[in-house]
Amino acid sequence: MKHKIIVTGGCGYIGSHTVIALMENDFEVIILDDLSNSNEQILDRITKITGRKPEFVKVDLKDLDHVHNVFGHFRDADAVIHFAAHKAVSESVQEPLKYYQNNLYSLINTLISQQENGIHNIIFSSSATVYGNPDTLPITEKNKTQRPFSPYGNTKKIAEEILEDVVLVSPDFSAISLRYFNPIGAHESGQIGEFPNGIPNNLMPYITQTAAGVREKLMVFGNDYPTKDGTPIRDYIHVVDLAEAHVLALKRLLNKEQESQLEIFNLGTGDGYSVLEVIQSFESVTGSKLNFEITGRRDGDVPKLFASTDLAKEKLGWSANRKLDEMISSSWKWEQNLREELI
Ligand code: NAD
Ligand code: UDP
Repeated sequence: MKHKIIVTGGCGYIGSHTVIALMENDFEVIILDDLSNSNEQILDRITKITGRKPEFVKVDLKDLDHVHNVFGHFRDADAVIHFAAHKAVSESVQEPLKYYQNNLYSLINTLISQQENGIHNIIFSSSATVYGNPDTLPITEKNKTQRPFSPYGNTKKIAEEILEDVVLVSPDFSAISLRYFNPIGAHESGQIGEFPNGIPNNLMPYITQTAAGVREKLMVFGNDYPTKDGTPIRDYIHVVDLAEAHVLALKRLLNKEQESQLEIFNLGTGDGYSVLEVIQSFESVTGSKLNFEITGRRDGDVPKLFASTDLAKEKLGWSANRKLDEMISSSWKWEQNLREELI
C-alpha cells in the first residue's frame, strides 16, 4: 500500500517540486491549495513530468469547517507536508494581520484537523529568518532564534512555538520543521518554477525578469555591508535539492526514526554567495550582461546568513548536490519558457 501524503500549498513553488519528488518516490499525494498564489495548470505539468495526476482539492485553510471536512475524506493519510502560507516579506510589513491570519490559522486548522482524524505526522516549512541576525556562522540549529524583522518571518517563529506546545501534550504526534535558507532554481524540465505575483521581492526572480526585459534594472540593496564585496551573503539552495530533503524527512517520520517529537533541520548548502557574486555567475552562465544599479540598503536585511548542514547530513542523510551554476541555469530556462508561453 502506498503511503498517502497531504501536501498543503502543493501548487506553489516549493510544494510543486516536492510533489514531483514524492510521486517519483511512489507516494500518493493529495494537494490542498486555495490557488491564492498559484495556478491549477501546475497539475497538468506535474502529470506530464510524473505520468500521474495528483489528487487536488481547492480549499482555503483559513476555513476550519472546510478543512475539517476535507481531512475527513483523507483520514487514511499518513502525514501532512504544510507549505501553505503567504510569503511576501514587504507585504507582510504593510499588512501584518493578513499574514498572521493566513499563516497561523492555516497551520492551526491543519493541526486540529490532523488530530481529529488521527494523522500524526507533519513537516513544516520554516525559514532561516527565525535566526534574525546571527551571532555566529555558519548557523547551526543550536543558534538562538530571534524575533524576525517582518511579520512574515514572525509567523514562522510563532508556528514553530505552536508545534513545540502541541507535541508536549500529544504523545503520538511528531513534527519536523525544516528551516530553508534561500531556495532558487527550477525543475530541469523547465516546466515548473517560481512565478512571483507582481514585482518580485526575491533576488533570483528579479534577476531573471530583468534579463528577460520584464524589469528595467535590478536594484542591488546596499554595498556597504561588512562582507567581501560589501553586498549581503546568502546560502542559495536548489529547489529540487530542497524537495528531496522533504522526502527524506518524511521517511524519517514514517519510519519513526526521530530522536524527539519535534526535530528541526537547516536546509542550505553551507556556501555563502554575495549579491554581486550571484550577478556575476548569472552573467557567465547566460553570457549576457545584467542591468543593475547599487542603491540603499533594504530594511531588515542582515549581512550574512549561511547554514551549517551537518545535522541534516547526519540525521536525514541529505546534502545539497546542485551548485550555484545549475540553480541559475535552471531559473533562466524556466524564465525563458515562461516568456515564450506568455507571448
Ligand atoms: P508559494 O506562494 O509559491 O506557495 C504557497 C502555496 O500555498 C501557494 O500555492 C498558495 O496558493 C497556497 N496557499 C497560501 N495560503 C493558503 C491558504 N490559506 N489555503 C490554501 N492554500 C494556501 O510559496 P513557496 O515559495 O512555495 O513557499 C512554500 C513554503 O515555504 C511557505 O510556507 C513559505 O513561507 C516557506 N518558505 C519559502 C521560502 C522561499 O524563499 N520561497 C523561504 C523559506 C520558507
Ligand atoms: N536583493 C537585492 N535586490 C533585489 C532583491 C534582493 O539586492 O531586488 C538582495 C537582498 O538585499 C539580499 C539578497 O539579495 O541581500 C537576497 O534577497 P532575497 O529577498 O532573495 O532573500 P532574503 O532577503 O530572504 O535572504
